[in-house]
Amino acid sequence: MPRYEYRCRPCDTTFELSRPMAESSAAATCPAGHQDTVKLLSTVAVGGSAKGSPAPAPSAGGGGGCCGGGCCS
Ligand SMILES: [Zn+2]
Repeated sequence: MPRYEYRCRPCDTTFELSRPMAESSAAATCPAGHQDTVKLLSTVAVGGSAKGSPAPAPSAGGGGGCCGGGCCS
């Protein structure tokens, strides 16, 4: 279950909650019972996401290049 970080304004502190993604934007109650909280951008990577991973760089002479196959002669 992903963890989300929230900030409690009355406490001026941050806390984490583990909750379903569907409830990530629901109101969070701080450990002291305040409900005046805001959700922070998650700094916890859940894993499994390929977002941001670069595509494999084409390597020269790998056999797929035009001039490597003799078609440019
Ligand atoms: Zn609080």
